[in-house]
Amino acid sequence: MIDLGVLKGSSFAVLGLARSGLATVRALKASGIDCVAWDDDAPSRDAAAAIGARLVEPDRIEWPGISALVISPGIPNRLPRPHPVAAAARAAGKPLICDVELLARARTAARYVAVTGTNGKSTTTALIGHILKSAGLACEVGGNIGRGALDLAPLGAEGLYVLELSSYQLELLDTFHAHVAVWLNITPDHIDRHGDMAGYVAAKAHIFDRQQTGDCAVIGVDDDFSRAMRETLAARGGAAVVPVALDRPIAGGVSFRAGMLVDADGYTVDFSDVPTLPGAHNAQNAACAWAACRWLGVPREAIVEGLRGYPGLPHRQERVAAVGGVVYVNDSKATNADAAARALSSYRDIYWILGGQAKEGGVAPLAPWFDRVRHAFLIGEATELFAGQLEGKLPFSRCGDLKSALDAAYALSRRESGAGKAVVLLSPACASWDQWRSYEHRGDAFRAMARALPGAQSLGEAA
Ligand code: ADP
Repeated sequence: MIDLGVLKGSSFAVLGLARSGLATVRALKASGIDCVAWDDDAPSRDAAAAIGARLVEPDRIEWPGISALVISPGIPNRLPRPHPVAAAARAAGKPLICDVELLARARTAARYVAVTGTNGKSTTTALIGHILKSAGLACEVGGNIGRGALDLAPLGAEGLYVLELSSYQLELLDTFHAHVAVWLNITPDHIDRHGDMAGYVAAKAHIFDRQQTGDCAVIGVDDDFSRAMRETLAARGGAAVVPVALDRPIAGGVSFRAGMLVDADGYTVDFSDVPTLPGAHNAQNAACAWAACRWLGVPREAIVEGLRGYPGLPHRQERVAAVGGVVYVNDSKATNADAAARALSSYRDIYWILGGQAKEGGVAPLAPWFDRVRHAFLIGEATELFAGQLEGKLPFSRCGDLKSALDAAYALSRRESGAGKAVVLLSPACASWDQWRSYEHRGDAFRAMARALPGAQSLGEAA
């Protein structure tokens, strides 16, 4: 846990009492700092009360004595409508911050590696953490992945915090400064919270705030928005900008071409056979991790070893089981079409389970990969929308729920594939909230059900 003693004399309101909020209350209390707390959800309030939080109803918070509102990044503070506590804090002229900002204020000697992007944040954060740890460096990995910022261990000048930061978190930082900022890619997402694409890009761009000479901005330049951001950064000066590109050489940067990673100075490594990092999207993640670790001075050999030994993360193209020649892949984390496209482009002969709560555009953008799909199995709220979009383009069935879809995919793949190299792929292109608590809940269920299929052999360790 992080000691927040440096903040003595301040007083905070904490809104949102799930993982990061509870960790904030715990850390503030343990450091003897005054705070009041609230969550609209009664069980969350009970959990906070159990750790001694002082719960105060929204309209009873006395703002004049409060230094800042520590708000859970998942709670809207502007769009589509600000939570009343956020609105009240703003009206009282109080800053809105998140737990990562408190970490930065408390651990000023350590260095920070921040990772953002629409897709690939968790993978790249875990990958950088894995490489740094394998290389023997003191590092803590958290933020939007795994442990909350204030649950991490205290680090000093030799230490590195590797943090996954979402657009929501990046908007809630005041003094945080990334020594290495990694921007992977950007495609439309979370528009409800940011108003439009410009708002989303502006929120993400906070990752580069307060960077200065001696710092590094690693930026994937495979989409138009990211290329524009690179131009902006180059014009700004200060931090070094290292571009990362797929399938083409890039001056002064890192590229990934035909399975080979090529560093700025021409140094080349063959990464065509790392099973835990399949597909071109993971090449982008690996190349960005490479650039960040090189900037931090990790020897090349250590990075190669770290990348090769990367164990993978659950729910991201996680190979969970095999039945005969058919591999079952849990990609429950693919909650939008762009992420699902990565999985579809990594395999052929796909029995594709998809659906849930649809995102804007549905699966129409996935048409270029439909010829890889043998049959689609639709589940959840998105069923009729997706049925309309798939009609006449590929064979599909309406299955209702995940278990029925898995059973149907099992039966059909057994009949059609024999000992072939087919995959049954859960890559929903949808949020999970219509039928599950979270994408993890959905993916855990898929893993357990796939491993329980007749004749199934378990694969992987990520579980
Ligand atoms: P995030 O934390 O940004 O949501 P993850 O690393 O958890 O990203 O990966 C989520 C999904 O996004 C994965 O299932 C994968 O299919 C896809 N993905 C991973 N990396 C990339 C990338 N660099 N570009 C596009 N899609 C990606």
